[in-house]
Amino acid sequence: MRDFSQDHRWLSLNTATVRKQGDLAAIIEACARHGIRAIDPWRDQVAAIGLDRAVRLVKDAGLELSGYCRGGMFTADDAHRSAVRDDNRRAVDEAAALGASCVVLVVGGLPQYSRPGSAPSKDIVAARAQVHDALADLLDYARQAKMPLAIEPLHPAYAADRACVNTTKQALDLCDALDPSRSGALGVALDVYHIWWDPELLPQIARAGKDRLMAFHVCDWLVPTKDLLNDRGMMGDGVIDIRSVRAAVEAQGFAGYSEIEIFSDAWWNQPMDEVLATCIERHRSVV
Ligand code: ZN
Repeated sequence: MRDFSQDHRWLSLNTATVRKQGDLAAIIEACARHGIRAIDPWRDQVAAIGLDRAVRLVKDAGLELSGYCRGGMFTADDAHRSAVRDDNRRAVDEAAALGASCVVLVVGGLPQYSRPGSAPSKDIVAARAQVHDALADLLDYARQAKMPLAIEPLHPAYAADRACVNTTKQALDLCDALDPSRSGALGVALDVYHIWWDPELLPQIARAGKDRLMAFHVCDWLVPTKDLLNDRGMMGDGVIDIRSVRAAVEAQGFAGYSEIEIFSDAWWNQPMDEVLATCIERHRSVV
């Protein structure tokens, strides 16, 4: 297992962590100040400053992208399906322009929540089948663009409104079904916030293996959690044994970035430099 205690060269910043403190240009400047070598930007942050400018800033700063957030939200009724497909293809193209290592996919929950305006449904089985089919279609496109896709399983509390893929096993079942040869085109993004509770986590990480482990996200689970979406904790402030999960993914050969992704009203209210300094300190002491 890699030693993170001496430096933070394997720290990547998911730019949502400081999205309220500045735009992507300001975040990239702050990364330079703090010696952060990698980011995972969100599409809306890229759109806000323009894709061409984002590409230039990333290149000029010498940043790597540990992922691109995000594609997915595949579940939609018939009226919205082609719009979803086109939007995901654009996400793949943007990720390629930015030089991202993968597109992170949050697959969508029940249609009416994932895609406002879609017809109401209580059929989570149908939603999962739709994810399979839409993902198969996107995979064809992504293969041509040589852009890997990483399915991020989300905690079951998000099954209705964000993702009906809720465990590492489910995500890997999709990988096996759609990319049985393990070509490197499809894998998983594992976020400790979503998977730490899973009794099957360690065997599923072993099942994933190096070629399916495409991204590793860290934050912490606070007790109590006041808001399931926007009350994530800084690493070390909660109950997740982050280091043991990192040990498990690294035992499979994962050697990529440890990406900090914290959606938190509390941290969004702190100055950007303070948040990044704390991220670096916790990366070294806790992750
Ligand atoms: Zn994540």
